[in-house]
Amino acid sequence: MTTTTTRIAIVTGAARGIGAGVAKRLAADGLAVAVVDLDEAAGKPVVEEIERAGGRAVALGIDVSDERAVRAGVARIAQELGAPTVLVNNAGILRDNLLFKMTADDWDAVMNVHLRGSFLMSREVQKHQLEARWGRIVNLSSTSALGNRGQANYSAAKAGVQGFTKTLAIELGKFGVTVNAIAPGFIETEMTAATAERIGVPFEELKKAAAAEIPVARTGTPEDIAHAVSFFVSEGAGFVSGQVLYVAGGPKA
Ligand code: NAP
Repeated sequence: MTTTTTRIAIVTGAARGIGAGVAKRLAADGLAVAVVDLDEAAGKPVVEEIERAGGRAVALGIDVSDERAVRAGVARIAQELGAPTVLVNNAGILRDNLLFKMTADDWDAVMNVHLRGSFLMSREVQKHQLEARWGRIVNLSSTSALGNRGQANYSAAKAGVQGFTKTLAIELGKFGVTVNAIAPGFIETEMTAATAERIGVPFEELKKAAAAEIPVARTGTPEDIAHAVSFFVSEGAGFVSGQVLYVAGGPKA
Protein backbone atom coordinates (compact mmCIF):
# COMPACT_ATOMS: atom_id res chain seq x y z
CA MET A 1 0.00 0.00 0.00
CA THR A 2 1.32 3.46 -0.84
CA THR A 3 1.00 6.22 1.70
CA THR A 4 0.15 9.73 0.55
CA THR A 5 0.19 12.98 2.50
CA THR A 6 -3.22 14.31 3.39
CA ARG A 7 -3.55 17.78 1.91
CA ILE A 8 -5.29 20.45 3.96
CA ALA A 9 -7.74 22.69 2.11
CA ILE A 10 -9.49 25.92 3.09
CA VAL A 11 -12.76 26.75 1.35
CA THR A 12 -14.21 30.18 2.13
CA GLY A 13 -17.94 30.87 2.06
CA ALA A 14 -18.39 27.12 2.48
CA ALA A 15 -21.51 27.02 4.66
CA ARG A 16 -23.74 26.81 1.61
CA GLY A 17 -23.99 26.98 -2.18
CA ILE A 18 -20.91 26.50 -4.31
CA GLY A 19 -18.53 26.60 -1.32
CA ALA A 20 -20.38 23.78 0.45
CA GLY A 21 -20.30 21.72 -2.77
CA VAL A 22 -16.57 22.34 -3.14
CA ALA A 23 -15.83 21.47 0.50
CA LYS A 24 -17.71 18.15 0.21
CA ARG A 25 -16.02 17.29 -3.07
CA LEU A 26 -12.49 18.02 -1.79
CA ALA A 27 -13.22 15.95 1.32
CA ALA A 28 -14.42 13.09 -0.89
CA ASP A 29 -11.17 13.49 -2.86
CA GLY A 30 -9.30 12.77 0.40
CA LEU A 31 -8.37 16.25 1.60
CA ALA A 32 -9.01 17.53 5.13
CA VAL A 33 -11.16 20.64 4.81
CA ALA A 34 -11.57 23.86 6.79
CA VAL A 35 -15.15 25.01 6.18
CA VAL A 36 -14.82 28.78 6.56
CA ASP A 37 -17.78 31.14 6.64
CA LEU A 38 -18.78 34.33 8.43
CA ASP A 39 -20.48 32.30 11.12
CA GLU A 40 -18.81 29.16 12.52
CA ALA A 41 -22.16 27.56 13.41
CA ALA A 42 -23.39 27.92 9.82
CA GLY A 43 -20.56 25.66 8.63
CA LYS A 44 -21.27 22.86 11.13
CA PRO A 45 -23.88 20.99 9.01
CA VAL A 46 -21.37 20.81 6.13
CA VAL A 47 -18.70 19.47 8.51
CA GLU A 48 -21.15 16.87 9.86
CA GLU A 49 -22.03 15.77 6.34
CA ILE A 50 -18.33 15.39 5.49
CA GLU A 51 -17.71 13.43 8.70
CA ARG A 52 -20.71 11.13 8.08
CA ALA A 53 -19.18 10.34 4.68
CA GLY A 54 -15.89 9.41 6.42
CA GLY A 55 -14.00 12.65 5.76
CA ARG A 56 -12.23 15.14 8.00
CA ALA A 57 -13.29 18.77 8.42
CA VAL A 58 -13.60 21.67 10.86
CA ALA A 59 -15.87 24.72 10.77
CA LEU A 60 -14.44 28.18 11.39
CA GLY A 61 -15.91 31.66 11.47
CA ILE A 62 -13.65 34.06 9.56
CA ASP A 63 -14.66 37.30 7.86
CA VAL A 64 -12.29 37.10 4.89
CA SER A 65 -12.16 40.90 4.58
CA ASP A 66 -10.84 41.28 8.16
CA GLU A 67 -7.05 41.13 8.23
CA ARG A 68 -6.73 40.11 11.88
CA ALA A 69 -9.46 37.51 11.64
CA VAL A 70 -7.78 35.99 8.57
CA ARG A 71 -4.39 35.83 10.27
CA ALA A 72 -5.79 34.24 13.44
CA GLY A 73 -8.12 31.91 11.52
CA VAL A 74 -5.46 30.50 9.21
CA ALA A 75 -3.14 29.98 12.19
CA ARG A 76 -5.93 28.06 13.94
CA ILE A 77 -6.48 25.88 10.87
CA ALA A 78 -2.76 25.10 10.72
CA GLN A 79 -2.90 24.08 14.37
CA GLU A 80 -6.12 22.04 14.24
CA LEU A 81 -5.86 20.37 10.82
CA GLY A 82 -2.28 20.94 9.65
CA ALA A 83 -0.61 23.40 7.29
CA PRO A 84 -3.12 24.48 4.63
CA THR A 85 -1.72 24.22 1.10
CA VAL A 86 -4.99 24.35 -0.85
CA LEU A 87 -7.13 27.50 -0.85
CA VAL A 88 -10.44 28.07 -2.60
CA ASN A 89 -11.41 31.76 -2.47
CA ASN A 90 -15.17 31.37 -2.86
CA ALA A 91 -16.78 33.72 -0.30
CA GLY A 92 -18.91 36.28 -2.06
CA ILE A 93 -21.73 38.77 -1.80
CA LEU A 94 -23.92 40.74 -4.20
CA ARG A 95 -24.91 44.41 -3.87
CA ASP A 96 -26.48 44.83 -7.32
CA ASN A 97 -27.77 48.15 -8.56
CA LEU A 98 -27.62 50.32 -11.64
CA LEU A 99 -24.71 52.74 -11.50
CA PHE A 100 -26.78 55.82 -10.64
CA LYS A 101 -28.31 54.01 -7.65
CA MET A 102 -25.18 52.22 -6.46
CA THR A 103 -23.86 53.55 -3.14
CA ALA A 104 -20.20 53.76 -2.19
CA ASP A 105 -21.01 51.18 0.50
CA ASP A 106 -22.36 48.79 -2.16
CA TRP A 107 -19.09 49.25 -4.06
CA ASP A 108 -16.81 48.85 -1.02
CA ALA A 109 -18.65 45.84 0.43
CA VAL A 110 -18.28 43.86 -2.80
CA MET A 111 -14.62 44.84 -3.29
CA ASN A 112 -13.86 43.98 0.32
CA VAL A 113 -15.20 40.43 0.23
CA HIS A 114 -14.19 39.35 -3.28
CA LEU A 115 -10.90 41.17 -3.82
CA ARG A 116 -9.51 42.13 -0.40
CA GLY A 117 -10.74 38.79 0.98
CA SER A 118 -9.01 36.77 -1.75
CA PHE A 119 -5.84 38.84 -1.26
CA LEU A 120 -5.76 38.45 2.54
CA MET A 121 -6.48 34.72 2.47
CA SER A 122 -3.93 34.05 -0.29
CA ARG A 123 -1.22 36.07 1.44
CA GLU A 124 -1.71 34.10 4.63
CA VAL A 125 -1.89 30.66 3.00
CA GLN A 126 1.08 31.15 0.65
CA LYS A 127 3.40 31.03 3.68
CA HIS A 128 2.41 27.42 4.21
CA GLN A 129 2.54 26.66 0.49
CA LEU A 130 6.07 28.04 0.16
CA GLU A 131 7.21 25.98 3.12
CA ALA A 132 5.67 22.86 1.58
CA ARG A 133 6.96 23.80 -1.91
CA TRP A 134 3.48 22.81 -3.16
CA GLY A 135 0.13 24.49 -3.31
CA ARG A 136 -3.10 25.17 -5.14
CA ILE A 137 -5.19 28.34 -5.15
CA VAL A 138 -8.53 28.44 -6.96
CA ASN A 139 -10.37 31.77 -7.13
CA LEU A 140 -14.05 32.15 -7.96
CA SER A 141 -14.60 34.67 -10.73
CA SER A 142 -17.84 34.87 -12.75
CA THR A 143 -19.17 35.32 -16.28
CA SER A 144 -20.17 38.75 -14.91
CA ALA A 145 -16.48 39.69 -15.29
CA LEU A 146 -17.36 40.14 -18.97
CA GLY A 147 -19.93 42.78 -18.01
CA ASN A 148 -23.44 42.50 -16.59
CA ARG A 149 -26.15 45.12 -16.20
CA GLY A 150 -26.64 46.16 -12.58
CA GLN A 151 -23.33 44.68 -11.44
CA ALA A 152 -20.69 47.40 -11.93
CA ASN A 153 -19.17 46.55 -8.54
CA TYR A 154 -19.40 42.77 -8.88
CA SER A 155 -18.16 42.59 -12.48
CA ALA A 156 -15.21 44.86 -11.65
CA ALA A 157 -14.35 42.66 -8.66
CA LYS A 158 -14.67 39.43 -10.67
CA ALA A 159 -12.51 40.88 -13.50
CA GLY A 160 -10.06 41.91 -10.78
CA VAL A 161 -10.01 38.35 -9.49
CA GLN A 162 -8.82 37.23 -12.93
CA GLY A 163 -5.87 39.68 -12.94
CA PHE A 164 -5.06 38.70 -9.36
CA THR A 165 -5.08 35.02 -10.37
CA LYS A 166 -2.67 35.54 -13.27
CA THR A 167 -0.26 37.59 -11.16
CA LEU A 168 -0.17 35.06 -8.33
CA ALA A 169 0.40 32.30 -10.90
CA ILE A 170 3.49 34.19 -12.12
CA GLU A 171 4.80 34.93 -8.61
CA LEU A 172 4.18 31.56 -6.98
CA GLY A 173 4.83 29.13 -9.85
CA LYS A 174 8.45 28.48 -8.96
CA PHE A 175 7.39 27.28 -5.53
CA GLY A 176 5.17 24.53 -6.95
CA VAL A 177 2.01 26.57 -6.43
CA THR A 178 -0.60 26.84 -9.19
CA VAL A 179 -3.25 29.55 -9.19
CA ASN A 180 -6.34 29.36 -11.38
CA ALA A 181 -9.80 30.89 -11.58
CA ILE A 182 -13.20 29.45 -12.32
CA ALA A 183 -15.83 31.72 -13.82
CA PRO A 184 -19.23 30.12 -13.32
CA GLY A 185 -22.33 30.99 -15.28
CA PHE A 186 -25.77 30.63 -13.70
CA ILE A 187 -25.51 28.26 -10.71
CA GLU A 188 -28.51 27.31 -8.57
CA THR A 189 -27.71 28.67 -5.11
CA GLU A 190 -29.13 31.10 -2.58
CA MET A 191 -27.24 33.85 -4.40
CA THR A 192 -29.21 33.36 -7.62
CA ALA A 193 -32.40 32.70 -5.63
CA ALA A 194 -31.89 36.09 -3.94
CA THR A 195 -31.46 37.72 -7.36
CA ALA A 196 -34.80 36.20 -8.45
CA GLU A 197 -36.45 37.62 -5.36
CA ARG A 198 -34.86 41.05 -5.84
CA ILE A 199 -36.15 41.36 -9.41
CA GLY A 200 -39.52 39.85 -8.47
CA VAL A 201 -39.37 36.71 -10.62
CA PRO A 202 -40.04 33.20 -9.22
CA PHE A 203 -36.74 31.27 -9.01
CA GLU A 204 -38.02 28.44 -11.23
CA GLU A 205 -38.93 30.98 -13.91
CA LEU A 206 -35.53 32.68 -13.72
CA LYS A 207 -33.81 29.27 -14.02
CA LYS A 208 -35.94 28.38 -17.05
CA ALA A 209 -35.16 31.70 -18.74
CA ALA A 210 -31.44 31.28 -18.02
CA ALA A 211 -31.42 27.68 -19.30
CA ALA A 212 -32.99 28.82 -22.58
CA GLU A 213 -29.84 30.90 -23.22
CA ILE A 214 -27.35 28.20 -22.21
CA PRO A 215 -26.03 25.83 -24.92
CA VAL A 216 -26.27 22.70 -22.69
CA ALA A 217 -29.88 23.77 -21.97
CA ARG A 218 -29.73 23.73 -18.18
CA THR A 219 -28.52 25.85 -15.30
CA GLY A 220 -25.49 24.77 -13.28
CA THR A 221 -25.15 23.22 -9.82
CA PRO A 222 -22.51 23.56 -7.09
CA GLU A 223 -21.33 20.06 -8.10
CA ASP A 224 -20.52 21.33 -11.61
CA ILE A 225 -18.16 23.90 -10.09
CA ALA A 226 -16.79 21.47 -7.49
CA HIS A 227 -15.75 19.12 -10.29
CA ALA A 228 -13.68 21.87 -11.95
CA VAL A 229 -12.12 22.84 -8.59
CA SER A 230 -11.24 19.18 -7.99
CA PHE A 231 -9.32 19.15 -11.29
CA PHE A 232 -7.33 22.31 -10.54
CA VAL A 233 -6.49 21.02 -7.05
CA SER A 234 -5.46 17.55 -8.25
CA GLU A 235 -1.81 16.47 -8.18
CA GLY A 236 -1.82 16.00 -11.95
CA ALA A 237 -2.81 19.59 -12.71
CA GLY A 238 0.58 21.03 -11.74
CA PHE A 239 1.30 22.37 -15.25
CA VAL A 240 -1.99 24.28 -15.45
CA SER A 241 -1.67 27.75 -13.94
CA GLY A 242 -2.93 31.29 -14.46
CA GLN A 243 -6.00 30.04 -16.31
CA VAL A 244 -9.60 31.20 -16.19
CA LEU A 245 -12.04 28.37 -16.83
CA TYR A 246 -15.58 29.41 -17.77
CA VAL A 247 -17.93 26.77 -16.37
CA ALA A 248 -21.10 28.07 -17.90
CA GLY A 249 -22.61 25.37 -20.11
CA GLY A 250 -21.23 26.99 -23.22
CA PRO A 251 -18.45 29.21 -24.56
CA LYS A 252 -17.69 32.62 -23.06
CA ALA A 253 -14.88 34.95 -24.03
P1 NAP B 1 -23.94 32.10 -1.64
O1 NAP B 1 -24.91 30.98 -1.73
O2 NAP B 1 -24.46 33.47 -1.39
O3 NAP B 1 -22.82 31.72 -0.56
C1 NAP B 1 -21.79 32.61 -0.27
C2 NAP B 1 -21.25 32.30 1.10
O4 NAP B 1 -20.17 33.23 1.36
C3 NAP B 1 -22.29 32.49 2.21
O5 NAP B 1 -22.28 31.39 3.07
C4 NAP B 1 -21.82 33.77 2.89
O6 NAP B 1 -22.11 33.81 4.30
C5 NAP B 1 -20.32 33.68 2.70
N1 NAP B 1 -19.68 34.97 2.92
C6 NAP B 1 -20.14 36.20 2.55
N2 NAP B 1 -19.29 37.15 2.97
C7 NAP B 1 -18.29 36.54 3.63
C8 NAP B 1 -17.13 37.00 4.30
N3 NAP B 1 -16.81 38.30 4.39
N4 NAP B 1 -16.30 36.08 4.88
C9 NAP B 1 -16.61 34.77 4.83
N5 NAP B 1 -17.68 34.27 4.21
C10 NAP B 1 -18.53 35.14 3.62
O7 NAP B 1 -23.07 32.23 -3.00
P2 NAP B 1 -22.76 31.15 -4.16
O8 NAP B 1 -23.78 31.32 -5.21
O9 NAP B 1 -22.47 29.82 -3.58
O10 NAP B 1 -21.41 31.80 -4.74
C11 NAP B 1 -20.12 31.39 -4.32
C12 NAP B 1 -19.07 32.13 -5.15
O11 NAP B 1 -19.30 31.88 -6.54
C13 NAP B 1 -19.12 33.65 -4.99
O12 NAP B 1 -17.82 34.18 -5.04
C14 NAP B 1 -19.91 34.10 -6.19
O13 NAP B 1 -19.64 35.42 -6.52
C15 NAP B 1 -19.44 33.10 -7.23
N6 NAP B 1 -20.38 32.90 -8.34
C16 NAP B 1 -21.65 32.44 -8.16
C17 NAP B 1 -22.48 32.27 -9.24
C18 NAP B 1 -23.89 31.76 -9.11
O14 NAP B 1 -24.60 31.72 -10.14
N7 NAP B 1 -24.34 31.35 -7.94
C19 NAP B 1 -22.03 32.59 -10.54
C20 NAP B 1 -20.74 33.07 -10.69
C21 NAP B 1 -19.91 33.22 -9.59
P3 NAP B 1 -23.48 34.46 4.84
O15 NAP B 1 -24.52 33.48 4.51
O16 NAP B 1 -23.27 34.59 6.31
O17 NAP B 1 -23.63 35.77 4.13
